Amino acid sequence: MVNRAWNVPKLFQFFGDELVNFISKIDILQNLEEDSMEHKFKLSGKSISALSLAARYTEIMQEEVDHWFFKLKLNPRVELFVWRLCMNTIPTTDFLFYRRLADSNLCQRSCLEVENMDHYTATCLKLLHVIRLLNSWVFLLPVFSSFSDCIRKLKLISVRNPFLPKMYITFLFHSRK
Ligand SMILES: [Zn+2]
Repeated sequence: MVNRAWNVPKLFQFFGDELVNFISKIDILQNLEEDSMEHKFKLSGKSISALSLAARYTEIMQEEVDHWFFKLKLNPRVELFVWRLCMNTIPTTDFLFYRRLADSNLCQRSCLEVENMDHYTATCLKLLHVIRLLNSWVFLLPVFSSFSDCIRKLKLISVRNPFLPKMYITFLFHSRK
């Protein structure tokens, strides 16, 4: 805060548009002596964590994906799948479990780890096995640490070799079936 008001430029350093808009609408009560809890669904209907996650994926969609993944000439269903990945609308088991729509949040590929977006697109043991196998056939796919890392690296690779990102994304798509 600056002069008992939100420091909006500072907020933009850490949060996306929607979350900054949300935070800056919270009144700063000058006569309160200590912080108090705001209702977590106030104003937007979304929780802070949902807004934070949405901002993360919206940034990926706007800054990273627009420029390259349409050039891969993916099957339209696979292209839609990438778009859904970037908009965080793929129902991972962790997503379903959190909403009590699944009995477990473990990976469907039987690797006994929680299946969130990072696991599903980058760190799953089965994916690592496939990457190792492909690399033994002279493909040069890197290991990804997260979904953001995966998208960033696939974008870089697509400049010199669009086949590799296309193959990896198509594999992710088919592994979902
Ligand atoms: Zn897994």
